[in-house]
Amino acid sequence: MDIMENCRVRFAPSPTGPLHIGGARSALFNYLIAKRFKGQFILRIEDTDVERSSRESEDNIFDSLRWLGLDWDEGPDIGGPYGPYRQMERLAIYKKYIQELIDKGLAYYCYCTEEELEEERQELIAKGEPPRYLGKCRELSPEQKEQFIQEGRKPVVRFRVPGNQEIVVNDLVRGKVVFESNGIGDYVILKSDGIPTYNFAVVIDDYLMKISHVIRAEEHLSNTPRQILIYEALGWETPTFAHVSLILGKDKSKMSKRHGATSVVQYKEQGYLPEAVVNFLALLGWAPEGEEEIFTMEELIEQFSLERVSKRPAVFDIDKLKWINGVYIRGCSNEEIRDLFIPVLQEAGHLPEKLSDRDYQWIQLVINGLQEKVHTLKEVLEHIDMFVGDQVELESEDLKKVLEEEQVPLVIETLKEKIKTVEELTPETVKTMLKEVSKETKQKGKKVFMPIRIAITGKMHGPELHSIIPALGKENVLKRIEKTVG
Ligand code: GLU
Repeated sequence: MDIMENCRVRFAPSPTGPLHIGGARSALFNYLIAKRFKGQFILRIEDTDVERSSRESEDNIFDSLRWLGLDWDEGPDIGGPYGPYRQMERLAIYKKYIQELIDKGLAYYCYCTEEELEEERQELIAKGEPPRYLGKCRELSPEQKEQFIQEGRKPVVRFRVPGNQEIVVNDLVRGKVVFESNGIGDYVILKSDGIPTYNFAVVIDDYLMKISHVIRAEEHLSNTPRQILIYEALGWETPTFAHVSLILGKDKSKMSKRHGATSVVQYKEQGYLPEAVVNFLALLGWAPEGEEEIFTMEELIEQFSLERVSKRPAVFDIDKLKWINGVYIRGCSNEEIRDLFIPVLQEAGHLPEKLSDRDYQWIQLVINGLQEKVHTLKEVLEHIDMFVGDQVELESEDLKKVLEEEQVPLVIETLKEKIKTVEELTPETVKTMLKEVSKETKQKGKKVFMPIRIAITGKMHGPELHSIIPALGKENVLKRIEKTVG
């Protein structure tokens, strides 16, 4: 189908846990294609695994998608012309098509018990053959059926897989992939509890919801021939498929908790910005044309294409995400960064609920000192001790040596005097003050700034002194100096 026309794509998560990075990437790719081709982005909840599905997971998925800015045009919460958008609310629809397949002889009831199936499996494995259902219930007579029913067996419905067929998936990412129908046993499409399996429900929904492109994770490629067979059995045209490669950790094993947080909400909590996460996710598998790696959503919508999505697995590099996040933090306007820093500082107890003028001044100094330095919002907390309180400890014993240099007493005395007498500590007055200390003590650069920095913060490195000193205020600065150099 021409992607330019009637482009309808979907993200179809199973609500069995929080939205993870892989799912978010699938959602993003679908979203970008929908926006690029002025189509619709549909959210469908695949909750047929009743045991593992929960509303809590569903809410997490909604929240995470919204946080990333991936709004949907149709979905369980907002409805749409092809609803309902939750599979468990569509059981009657599936039943109709199951019946159609049964009536056409393309599907049948199977009464095999777990034990019988397991026995068959073991026999095939022992013979070195791939385990699959061999079709025991394919041709049951009415009498046999009756007997099974009498025994109280509850049947499943299986799809009758045609023999000797090549099933071709023309995948936009992977090219032509061919499967043999002989390798596929008759599979269950309706479980004994009346709930369809994924491979069946997904076909009915994608068709009825007029999905033009199925863009999803590579792990579903092996399901695709099973789905194509159902499209064919019902006489329906298949959508175009695009299977996006796995995400691996840096050590090339499948992305897991060992490589960093796996769910989107964890990145939010750790202080990543949604724009940065989106930018990072886009680069997991998609290669932009030029060297540029920073893209806004609008730029992604303009430039993203499935042709430039790689067949090779994507590598999840947390350092790259940090770098990108740092770029976005630095790119925030003063107001934006203030709105981002405040809740982090409030949550950690460094700011009250209701902010005073002095609090706002202090936040501004923290921003001046840290906006350029941190890669995540939470990193602010790693440096915040330098901006508040009278407590200070030398980071290492080596720093004592710096404080014992011969010029230090004069430098510190001169500074203390100036702090005591200056009317107000502001970035400007501190800058002037430091220049004067340098001039009056006839000491330059490091000889002045290093001992002052260490005396006040206990560290060799950190944000600019003209941000830290006014943030601390006279009293705290003097107390800290007292503690470190006396
Ligand atoms: N519910 C499936 C999953 O979460 C969706 C697969 C698909 O997109 O077809 O993996």
